[in-house]
Amino acid sequence: MMHLAFLVLLCLPVCSAYPLSGAAKQEDSNRDLAQQYLENYYNLKTDVKQFRRKESNLIVKKIQQMQKFLGLAATGKLDSDTLEVMRKPRCGVPDVGHFHTFPGIPKWRKTHLTYRIVNYTSDLPGDAVDSAIEKAVKVWEEVTPLTFSRLYEGEADIMISFAVKEHGDFYSFDGSGHSLAHAYPPGPGLYGDIHFDDDEHWTEDASGTNLFFVAAHELGHSLGLFHSANTEALMYPLYNSFTELTRFHLSQDDVNGIQSLYGPPPASTEEPLVPTKSVPSGSRTPAKCDPALSFDAISTLRGEYLFFKDRYFWRRSHWNSEPEFHLISTFWPSLPSYLDAAYEVNSRDTVFIFKGNEFWAIRGNEVQAGYPRGIHTLGFPPTIRKIDAAVSDKEKKKTYFFVEDKYWRFDENSQSMEQGFPRLIADDFPGVEPKVDAVLQAFGFFYFFSGSLQFEFDPNARMVTRILKSYSWLHC
Ligand SMILES: [Zn+2]
Ligand SMILES: [Zn+2]
Repeated sequence: MMHLAFLVLLCLPVCSAYPLSGAAKQEDSNRDLAQQYLENYYNLKTDVKQFRRKESNLIVKKIQQMQKFLGLAATGKLDSDTLEVMRKPRCGVPDVGHFHTFPGIPKWRKTHLTYRIVNYTSDLPGDAVDSAIEKAVKVWEEVTPLTFSRLYEGEADIMISFAVKEHGDFYSFDGSGHSLAHAYPPGPGLYGDIHFDDDEHWTEDASGTNLFFVAAHELGHSLGLFHSANTEALMYPLYNSFTELTRFHLSQDDVNGIQSLYGPPPASTEEPLVPTKSVPSGSRTPAKCDPALSFDAISTLRGEYLFFKDRYFWRRSHWNSEPEFHLISTFWPSLPSYLDAAYEVNSRDTVFIFKGNEFWAIRGNEVQAGYPRGIHTLGFPPTIRKIDAAVSDKEKKKTYFFVEDKYWRFDENSQSMEQGFPRLIADDFPGVEPKVDAVLQAFGFFYFFSGSLQFEFDPNARMVTRILKSYSWLHC
């Protein structure tokens, strides 16, 4: 429906114009669109006459401001790229000059917030709306100390409603397309509230406008975030229709933004359990100096060390003693999180990443085409559903795969699993405790990580030489 309406709109200026003045009409309509856009989202206060005087410096500056913010070339001209972006569906909250006019930084002065779904769209069953909103709330709950509960009556901090056109605030909706929703920054009354344009076609998947995705974005505003110019961020103002909803995650930019207002979630006060990496340990941001820290997977990458944990990894280079901390998705958006294993094959300049019965190949920050592939293509028997850890011996050109109390060995030269495997870890790596979370080869040793401990193993002496805390690599 939305696409059809969109085509009709695009067609109108061309189809309805007199043949001779078609180009001029198109130009007028582009200017109207641009004027409206800059007034709505870039705080442009002007009149039509001024806008049509091409030399107007203010207009050029505003167009440049918009182009810079949305990641376009800052030409100051209404080129086709710029017009295309102006026609895209987006959040109705301005990119500049809106929240910024409030004194101080708007944020909630409490950590427990309430929300209420005031009415529903007819596009979706009620429980689909409920669960989209609940999921969107969780996105922010996971990375902050904030907690939320739902009210069914009375005044909640965040009142959520569907409305069309003029709906009682100063920001009318505009029918299908363009502005999809808007939300107000933290505060009493109308503040914190979220309005969805019910002239959109709201869906659970990506076939229409995905309610969860827009709700998560608007909640960011309700909690005090502005728009981000980072195109990877949830708080980027344009609606990016996407298909991989199951792999949704906040970008580091969103996490940094919200944590600058509320801080990270509190560390758990419970006794640390023996970490089981197949069970995600919530989405708390892992702390590098937590004595209970364990890793999901470890690999080298072009001379650096990568320590994977949950949705994150630490990157340690030789010359920088302080490890960098990133979201996996910032570097490799299509990779999963909560990895099982990773290793680098130097001779192929490739890192292989394992999760479940699949693996990916990455080179630098590019995931290679043709992946993920099934782990059984490497020669594992069908009974193996996942592997625990892997390491590739750079000199011997052999890759070791650890599964429970056994290991397999893969020959990188012949690209095949070797005969005579699996063997027991205890027989060939005495002193190393199965099951292994991650293995790293460095300084002639193998470092086997198991929970919060690591075993330094000397392959020549065939013995464990030291037992260390897992986090010792992160300079704690
Ligand atoms: Zn927005
Ligand atoms: Zn509204």
